[in-house]
Amino acid sequence: GEQQSTVPAEAREKHQRLAEQIEEYRFRYYVRDAPVVSDAEFDRLLRDLEALEAEHPELVTPDSPTQKVAGKYETEFTEVAHRERMLSLDNAFDDAELGEWADRVARELEGVKHRFLCELKIDGLAVNLTYERGRLTRAATRGDGRTGEDITPNVRTITDIPERLSGERVPDLVEVRGEVFFPMERFEELNARLVEAGDKPFANPRNAAAGSLRQKDPKVTASRPLHMVVHGIGAREGFETDTLSHAYDLLREWGLPTSTHTKVVDGLDGVREFIAYYGENRHSVAHEIDGVVVKLDEVRLQGRLGSTSRAPRWAIAWKYAPEEVNTKLLEIRVGV
Ligand code: NAD
Repeated sequence: GEQQSTVPAEAREKHQRLAEQIEEYRFRYYVRDAPVVSDAEFDRLLRDLEALEAEHPELVTPDSPTQKVAGKYETEFTEVAHRERMLSLDNAFDDAELGEWADRVARELEGVKHRFLCELKIDGLAVNLTYERGRLTRAATRGDGRTGEDITPNVRTITDIPERLSGERVPDLVEVRGEVFFPMERFEELNARLVEAGDKPFANPRNAAAGSLRQKDPKVTASRPLHMVVHGIGAREGFETDTLSHAYDLLREWGLPTSTHTKVVDGLDGVREFIAYYGENRHSVAHEIDGVVVKLDEVRLQGRLGSTSRAPRWAIAWKYAPEEVNTKLLEIRVGV
């Protein structure tokens, strides 16, 4: 550019190198469903980029990987627009970062009483379901957050997901967000079958879910034991709730698969207890967990905090230590 820059060439080059590497890994992960590095390694690269940008704010441009939900890719699926953006989540890797997030929330809310909704962070594939007058009219991947891939025929094969919502006060419109996952206990069996058929096995259950869902032929999807857990709502008409936890109650009444592992707590101590409990009891759940998501429960207060271009300010993802994840993956591979 013409402008005088105070950023050393070295930092600029490092930024470009990191950004390109991250984009390449995202492509492998989101489009090919076949990552070439571990999540821990990927997260580290993104953190390095964030640190570099913190040091040189000039390097923060709207198309930096730190500012986007994910890349925008050409795929074999039709592109569809979400009515409301689907975002990513900011991470907390230790108790200090969790505390900083809670402090920021309290500061923004200027003393307004609030509660935290604790949920498991399901390691699957984010999907947006659109229900119009109670009928499932569209299902899409998250994509870049504004537009995703139309995977409606594939999603219709998942038995957890109702074609029609049932019960009282079904809204005119609701976007339901959730995670499609591949059950841990069926993962080895799938890979064994793929290898036998001369196909490539999946790196982990998350990629098995994504790869099974993003199939051109929905019959292949139908043959895979996919499940879903809902964890959010997007655009809605004729549907108001004070809290997200109450919204989940309604979604459950309408026949949607909500989680049985959620808890509303008053403060950080409750959050820490939830994190510690599932750190110890991760194997008691049917799907892979890569963390805990902590959300502000009050919908009105969520609106007050708002979002960045990448993530809501009213939620944070606690990530369990990567060593634990690797150990667990190893255990699954050797079939313990
Ligand atoms: P993320 O997975 O850290 O967090 C956002 C997502 O969490 C949401 O989109 C949602 O789908 C999901 N989620 C699961 N449970 C949830 C709950 N209870 N409430 C709300 N949301 C919930 O962020 P991301 O932007 O999707 O991607 C980053 C993840 O993907 C990281 O874990 C990263 O390591 C991995 N990744 C890995 C590679 C690789 O090459 N290994 C490449 C790209 C991304």
